[in-house]
Amino acid sequence: MGVAAPILKELSEIVEVLPEEENRKYESDRWVYLRLEDARRGHALAVVRPKDERQVAQAVKLCARGGLRLTCRGGGSSVTGSSVPIDAVVMDMSMMSRIIEVDRENMVVRVEPGARLSDVEAQLNRLGYTLGQFPQSFHLATVGGYLSTMGTGEFSGEYGGAEDSCLSLRVVLPDGSIVDTRSTDAPRSSAGPDTTRLFIGAEGSLGVIVSARLKIYRLSAHTVKLAYTFQEFIQALSAAKSLLELDVKPAVCRVYNEQESSYVFGQNSPVMLLIYHFRSPRIAEALTGEVRDTLTARGAKEADAGLVDKWLVDRFKYDEQLGTLYGAGYIVDTVEIGSSWSNAPALYGDLVKQLPQIEGVVGFGAHVSHIYNQGACVYITVIMKPNANTYTRLWEAVGALCKAHRATVSHHHGVGLLKSGLVKHEIPFSLLEQIKRALDPHNTMNPNKLL
Ligand SMILES: Cc1cc2nc3c(=O)[nH]c(=O)nc-3n(C[C@H](O)[C@H](O)[C@H](O)COP(=O)(O)OP(=O)(O)OC[C@H]3O[C@@H](n4cnc5c(N)ncnc54)[C@H](O)[C@@H]3O)c2cc1C
Repeated sequence: MGVAAPILKELSEIVEVLPEEENRKYESDRWVYLRLEDARRGHALAVVRPKDERQVAQAVKLCARGGLRLTCRGGGSSVTGSSVPIDAVVMDMSMMSRIIEVDRENMVVRVEPGARLSDVEAQLNRLGYTLGQFPQSFHLATVGGYLSTMGTGEFSGEYGGAEDSCLSLRVVLPDGSIVDTRSTDAPRSSAGPDTTRLFIGAEGSLGVIVSARLKIYRLSAHTVKLAYTFQEFIQALSAAKSLLELDVKPAVCRVYNEQESSYVFGQNSPVMLLIYHFRSPRIAEALTGEVRDTLTARGAKEADAGLVDKWLVDRFKYDEQLGTLYGAGYIVDTVEIGSSWSNAPALYGDLVKQLPQIEGVVGFGAHVSHIYNQGACVYITVIMKPNANTYTRLWEAVGALCKAHRATVSHHHGVGLLKSGLVKHEIPFSLLEQIKRALDPHNTMNPNKLL
């Protein structure tokens, strides 16, 4: 059943409401579980498409007054079900996709939430700038969705993640009021806690982002591409860490275990470490020397740097790669775990031991996708038979291992429906619930996901 007729009529007086037959398109996102036959899909009561913040504010207010739930929709590329409506009105942000201003002097872009990252990047590139945020879903994800899931891009070593990129937000709160999380142009402020961070990673549960001020950077034409092979995955991890200890921080440093290396670079490929960076020629030369000396001293052998180009091109061919596996009757899910350096080897050892043992799992690969002085993101790809039991056991095992090794079960994909039961011990849940109750007493905004 859709929205009750009187409310639907009121909604349609303030904002575009899509024809009911469109609802179905909004009832799933990229959450792999939804590919299972017995999986419960979402249910959209109606889809509204605002064209400005005033319409957003009025629609939010009306939903709260009418006791309706509201789920925002950016690109729908969430892999956790965070943008799946559960008996909710969907707010499609695609009409709010303007770049409002590029402030070159202060290196800031102000943008509406429905803009795709790839479109923002293309416009900035034309002016000689970059946003520096390149998730693999770069062509799918919108600014609002990316900030709301606290995503991160593959060049995080240089540009950080969504939280590092964002200077401030303009947000419609659940009562329909509009706030700016900072109203100065300053690059930093100690005037109170940073409420911008309250909405980054909130998965639309505390309000609707209606614009964002993001950092931009000068494009650099000079690149460094290096590839190395190692005997062991853990040895390669420790070599990557030693780069950071020398304060050598490439934009990209990725380490692949044999299984994933063979899948990405060709059969029987060994453990591989890729470096990608961009800077002025002199900085690039110094970085290349430091990387070479450090990695070869730790047992690495230099490999064909063309493998970096292969990765740069192939990373966006996910639909093609997944299509082959889906066509063969499998499903594929990815697990992105954030771990400290000291816990990562044991965590990886347990993942390798336990996950392939789960009945129905037919393939398993791992790589490290992001490195920090304090730890790394261990990214696992699991190929399995499309069976709900296998799927549930996989995520239970991942959750238990993360807990045991004090790791996070979500380095950058967010929580959604998939992980809401797995993260409660990771965050001060009751504090967040109090904030949710204070801001959203009618529980309007995307309930039952993160909060
Ligand atoms: C092939 C593939 C590769 C991926 N690679 C990466 C990766 O490298 N890095 C990474 O971080 N993620 C990755 N993801 C996950 C996904 O792309 C990100 O979570 C993405 O940032 C979500 O953006 P979206 O616009 O599609 O959001 P949606 O899926 O539409 O929404 C995500 C959440 O944000 C909320 N939301 C959307 N817009 C707003 C708004 N304006 N205000 C408030 N809440 C809002 C939604 O309600 C939902 O809770 C990948 C996904 C796929 C399918």
